[in-house]
Amino acid sequence: MTTIVKAKVVGNQAVRPEVFLLTLETPEIAAAARPGQFVMLKVAPGPDPLLARPFSVHGTDGGKLLILYQVRGKGTRLLAEAEPGLELTLWGPQGRGFDLGGAKRPILVAGGMGMAPLAFAAKVLEERAIPSLFLNGGANQESIRGLEDRLEAMLVAGIERGSVERLRSFFAAKTKAAETSFSGAPRIILGTSTEDGSFGHKGLVTDLLEESLSASQDLQPDLVLSCGPLPMLKAVARICAKQKVASQVSLEAPMACGVGACQGCVQPAAGGGYLRVCQEGPVLDAAQVDWERV
Ligand SMILES: Cc1cc2nc3c(=O)[nH]c(=O)nc-3n(C[C@H](O)[C@H](O)[C@H](O)COP(=O)(O)OP(=O)(O)OC[C@H]3O[C@@H](n4cnc5c(N)ncnc54)[C@H](O)[C@@H]3O)c2cc1C
Repeated sequence: MTTIVKAKVVGNQAVRPEVFLLTLETPEIAAAARPGQFVMLKVAPGPDPLLARPFSVHGTDGGKLLILYQVRGKGTRLLAEAEPGLELTLWGPQGRGFDLGGAKRPILVAGGMGMAPLAFAAKVLEERAIPSLFLNGGANQESIRGLEDRLEAMLVAGIERGSVERLRSFFAAKTKAAETSFSGAPRIILGTSTEDGSFGHKGLVTDLLEESLSASQDLQPDLVLSCGPLPMLKAVARICAKQKVASQVSLEAPMACGVGACQGCVQPAAGGGYLRVCQEGPVLDAAQVDWERV
């Protein structure tokens, strides 16, 4: 159900240059939000800019809703100036989020701001005591700075950074004890890649995905969740189809209304026709998308 509310800004801090964590006091939306869903947010109280902007739900904290956003244009630049106490209009939670129902051995693949919804998914998986592998990619060390701190901040047991060898063996670990940290909370292993090699694996995050899937023959991961740039999502869909692993992708598309009316956010569907990112998505089974036409 879509709720339109006015919410007070509680915090709006930079987590790294040009990336901010916005905290809004909005108990109704916070209570209803699920990982992968988004809100439509008017970034300023006045009429300019006219259109609201879509942002994934990054998390909730009691009655507070967290949004992790990058400054891209006029709207997000204005949002970066929002001070605590300011009231903003938003509606949501919108769209179809990640279906975490049957996941036992999930891999989460984030590129850039894909961290925003996937950190929320990781938190829910941890709450459900499901160990997971989190693969995060960026251009360089600078670009991932702050984002992985957000992931760590969301989790009770924190993260364990994994070497490629550790990632390889993670899903091959047969005992529950091997997957659980000393505190008893499920472990989330984080593997990082940077294109310039300044941190973690040198290359693409999809290299880590390929390695992790091909190394896990004993206990195959059963679900891959991803959010990030389109070329990354395409590669994830291709790799998962080849390895016969279920895959859910969170697609981005510019959208004006976020409620299915304007049809501005459509993406090509497998088998013909189109899917509205705001209604049928933003999270879709990778097999629902016609990747040749996207
Ligand atoms: C479902 C969904 C969830 C999103 N979640 C997040 C999030 O959690 N954090 C975050 O930082 N951003 C997120 N985005 C992207 C965010 O909505 C845009 O960055 C924002 O609308 C840009 O507004 P602006 O006024 O600053 O930029 P504009 O001036 O509107 O645009 C600046 C540039 O960005 C391009 N652009 C704008 N929106 C998109 C888009 N959706 N996809 C591709 N290019 C775009 C424009 O074409 C233009 O080149 C999400 C988008 C969608 C559709």
